[in-house]
Amino acid sequence: MNQVLIVGSVAYDALKTPFGSVDRALGGSATYSSLAASLFAPVAMVGVVGTDFRASDLRLLVRKGIDTSGLKREAGKTFFWKGFYEGDMNVAHTVRTELNVFAGFDPVIPSRLRRPPYLFLANIHPALQASVLDQVDKPRYTVLDTMNLWIQTQRKALLRVLRRVDLAVLNDQEVRLLTGITSLAQAARKVRSWGPRTVIVKKGEHGAFVAGPGWAFMTHAVPLERVVDPTGAGDSFAGGMIGYLAREGRTDETALRKAVLAGGLVASFTVQGFSVRALTALTRGRLRSRYESFRRMSEIPRIRV
Ligand code: AMP
Repeated sequence: MNQVLIVGSVAYDALKTPFGSVDRALGGSATYSSLAASLFAPVAMVGVVGTDFRASDLRLLVRKGIDTSGLKREAGKTFFWKGFYEGDMNVAHTVRTELNVFAGFDPVIPSRLRRPPYLFLANIHPALQASVLDQVDKPRYTVLDTMNLWIQTQRKALLRVLRRVDLAVLNDQEVRLLTGITSLAQAARKVRSWGPRTVIVKKGEHGAFVAGPGWAFMTHAVPLERVVDPTGAGDSFAGGMIGYLAREGRTDETALRKAVLAGGLVASFTVQGFSVRALTALTRGRLRSRYESFRRMSEIPRIRV
């Protein structure tokens, strides 16, 4: 089966939400997206951790079938991110970012992972994303994620790497920040003009909007009564999506539409627990039954107009 290579951050997070708080909880863009993608396809993960990285966290990734041979352990502490949410759960407020071992991180893709059919450049510095692209041999499909920090501080590097990917996944605030355009459809068109054939705009609890060449698609998010911790929603969405594409072995419009649904479904579980708890407890059976009710909810009747 097609393997997905994921490069991104592996972190310990301190998180506070209206439902409680956790400290030094497993997180990071590569962690969430790899766990999500592993529900559908084999995953190899490249990143860096410090000597404080817990053996139990490594075991968790391995237990999920993730190839962690590209996860380097270096002297120092694991990347640390502290954030909180209040009011609008779609907006993460960063309190502190400690790069730690991430400061000197230069991703080296092990030679046996250099021909990935599917590549996910999870959220890290755009220059590092570009360095990964320099090392791999023409992936069949490349997806990129980013964040407001890089849009504000590394715009040029981000635009350079955007040119080289097939699909960009951004949230509504990011796409507006990047383009200066308020209309999401127009902003997505602008991003597409910079390189990616397809752009996905995530809208948190309002779902996602996808723009491809000559087509568009939108989907709702699963309506949840309680979002316990939104951290990792975006990463799980993208991970679930690329995992699904890899499993299908296709990246055409139909496959992309389905993959977006799969990504949204996985993300709906992630936010129901702190850190990776709900995501790691997720089974195919639970996914299937939520999908069935979501499908019934989303069905729109034909009307006479
Ligand atoms: P999201 O899916 O957007 O909620 O991603 C949340 C994850 O992003 C957290 O687990 C953080 O550890 C990670 N993160 C936060 N800031 C950065 C950064 N500057 N670079 C890479 N990862 C980050």
